[in-house]
Amino acid sequence: MTYDCIVLGVGGAGSAALYHLARRGANVVGIDRFAPGHDRGSSHGRTRMIRLAYFEHPDYVPLLRRARELWLELEKEKGAPLYRETGVVQIGARDGMVVSGVLEAARRHGLDVEEIERGGLPGLAWPESMTAVFERQAGLLSVEECVRAHAALAQAHGAELRIGEAVVGWSADGDGVEVQTESARLRAQRLVVTPGAWAADLLGDLGVPFRVLRKAQFWFATEVEQHTVDGGLPCFYFELDDGHFYGFPKIDELGLKLAQHSGGTEVDDPFTADRGIDAQEQARVVAFLAAHLPGASTTPTHHEVCFYTMTPDEHFIVDRHPRHPQVALAAGLSGHGFKFASVLGEVLCDLTLDGATRHPIGFLCLSRFD
Ligand SMILES: Cc1cc2nc3c(=O)[nH]c(=O)nc-3n(C[C@H](O)[C@H](O)[C@H](O)COP(=O)(O)OP(=O)(O)OC[C@H]3O[C@@H](n4cnc5c(N)ncnc54)[C@H](O)[C@@H]3O)c2cc1C
Repeated sequence: MTYDCIVLGVGGAGSAALYHLARRGANVVGIDRFAPGHDRGSSHGRTRMIRLAYFEHPDYVPLLRRARELWLELEKEKGAPLYRETGVVQIGARDGMVVSGVLEAARRHGLDVEEIERGGLPGLAWPESMTAVFERQAGLLSVEECVRAHAALAQAHGAELRIGEAVVGWSADGDGVEVQTESARLRAQRLVVTPGAWAADLLGDLGVPFRVLRKAQFWFATEVEQHTVDGGLPCFYFELDDGHFYGFPKIDELGLKLAQHSGGTEVDDPFTADRGIDAQEQARVVAFLAAHLPGASTTPTHHEVCFYTMTPDEHFIVDRHPRHPQVALAAGLSGHGFKFASVLGEVLCDLTLDGATRHPIGFLCLSRFD
């Protein structure tokens, strides 16, 4: 059988692409080694932050606006909560990359961001030398539920799913593609590649030196009412002298979730990477917790290992393949891509069915590495 399109990797970005393609009536199949919402790649750990005043680069803001809109639409179509508007506070030196970047993105794009005085968030402490900027229209996404929602609704719109099947390679010929899995050879007119931490295996011919970093997320019990969403704690992100740390308010029995965004150990193979606790990583997160969230237990209730796939400039690659225009890809989401997954799905669908997209993705093109 020949499909209109094959989506290779049904994780954060791939499940969204599958959904948009199926919704537009394409005869599409998604292939993944693991079931949607699995914990082997980069889209697990209960929560992901979404914020619009983007310090990483103001050009992301139009994509973020559409991403937020699409998450809300998905939530409505699924009829289950996926997004929680907790607000996000970002804290650091006034002239540091985070606070100045947030203010610049907000200024350029007319976003609502306010400064918060020290003591203004009772559950969270920060030094007098730092500035805190708060964005109300921001919050958290239930990461696994989002992936499952995209995949399930894609199926409801007619997509086929092949789960538990590894892709061993793909090739393009004429204006079609062929995908070889462990057990089948599939043909389609178009291909979407959304490989997460396996970008080097499936997109090695691009010549981009993807680096995979192992990252741990830790949860800590707390009885402090001000550590809950109802008690007023938003999601938080700190730029400190010893790195970038972030976290989420208590939303369930596991308590606060914290992690270090900077740093990370490079791994050769996500399959064989150690998933145990790294004592030094835990010690850094516990030191952050003790300094900024007084009253919480410093013994983790739970931890999970997850992977960042970094590009050399830490911005995503969203483009068509330079030698095979029938192949669209989203790779190297560099540790900040989940919030965009909804709009990346729409972009990949546009590139696949229309050959172009109205969304401003020029700054994410592959040719910037030429
Ligand atoms: C600890 C942590 C915290 C993060 N926090 C945030 C945050 O707060 N906000 C935010 O926006 N982003 C955050 N990110 C980043 C974000 O989660 C990732 O950028 C995003 O989820 C990556 O999505 P993906 O589709 O590229 O990869 P994945 O979701 O991992 O999907 C790739 C899929 O491809 C499949 N696959 C690959 N190769 C094959 C093959 N050969 N055969 C079959 N299947 C294959 C995999 O099984 C997988 O399902 C965080 C990441 C981590 C690790």
